[in-house]
Amino acid sequence: MGCIATIGSHSALQILKGARMEGLKTLLLCPQGRESLYGRYGLADEIFTINGPEDLLQDKVQRELLKNEAIFVPHGTLISGGRLEEFEKNFRPPIFGNRRIFRWEFDRALKDRILREAGIRIPKKFDSVDDVDRPVIVKLPGAEGGRGYFIAKDGDDLERKMREVVRRGLLKEDEANKAFIQEYIIGVTIYPHYFYSPMLGRLELLGCDRRYETNVDGIGRICARDQLELDLIPTFRVIGNLPIVLRESLLSEVFEAGERFVAATERLVPPGMIGPFCLEMICDEDGKLYTFEFSGRIVAGTNLFIDGSPYSSLLFDEPMSMGRRICREIKLALVEGKIGKITT
Ligand code: AMP
Repeated sequence: MGCIATIGSHSALQILKGARMEGLKTLLLCPQGRESLYGRYGLADEIFTINGPEDLLQDKVQRELLKNEAIFVPHGTLISGGRLEEFEKNFRPPIFGNRRIFRWEFDRALKDRILREAGIRIPKKFDSVDDVDRPVIVKLPGAEGGRGYFIAKDGDDLERKMREVVRRGLLKEDEANKAFIQEYIIGVTIYPHYFYSPMLGRLELLGCDRRYETNVDGIGRICARDQLELDLIPTFRVIGNLPIVLRESLLSEVFEAGERFVAATERLVPPGMIGPFCLEMICDEDGKLYTFEFSGRIVAGTNLFIDGSPYSSLLFDEPMSMGRRICREIKLALVEGKIGKITT
């Protein structure tokens, strides 16, 4: 009954374990050299070695999935691999989730469009350096995972730093308009883990984390005088994830933002959100939530909650990781003969 396939990286272990717990077969597409890691846990019924995520489009990989009647569960590795338009069109096996959403996550302009459509609070975006009147964070084209970002305190500072970025060859002079300039929100980052269930017609909150980023999360350990003397530049490379439980009074807004996001994806990227997603938020000193990014699939922060989280235990009387929740939805759809409702 049913087979779950995923790539061996990111959140594969909890997906495999979740499939086991739900009584589904597992097929791991394992990047070469990682077989022994995944072998240690014995969670994959079958391991099919690939060179890397780029092999997903190869005929022999797709045939292996089709032969096993596998449902492919995407995660962060798929997005970072790029080639998402090709994947959307040419990947033949069924995917759990909406295969059209990944391109919107990868492309900053499309991402911005969905968040606007959702009508949730987002940091102000500046189309021109001349309009900048407050602290901003600049995301250079091609930058991801917080590398290639910098902060400027106002318009003059930004102009100076943009010149420096061009001088260092990080941005071509005629490409300055491609830098994504966004209001910098000072506050606490929070990353709620949502699951939208088409089978149950409900939005669930299964956990929440914060990313621990170097060096920005380390700078606060140094006193202000030393920070100035050391001439530090904040960077945002994710090193790990920390669990966070939110003030209960924030939950209504967290749910409302999630509901609005789901509705926006239904309008812009039909059939809309299926399964896990994350809104990347900052809560400022007034308790206002700003959403600055989204992930349209399982995020790595859910790896904290393989045994469930305080939020998942409010909904389920058993340990419910995001990986298991995905497999529970697939099982339900298989039993009810509605697999088309949750796959694309
Ligand atoms: P991202 O690659 O967009 O997920 O951003 C990486 C990190 O940069 C985030 O986890 C935040 O710490 C920081 N960041 C991004 N956008 C903003 C913003 N508008 N205001 C404050 N911090 C931000």
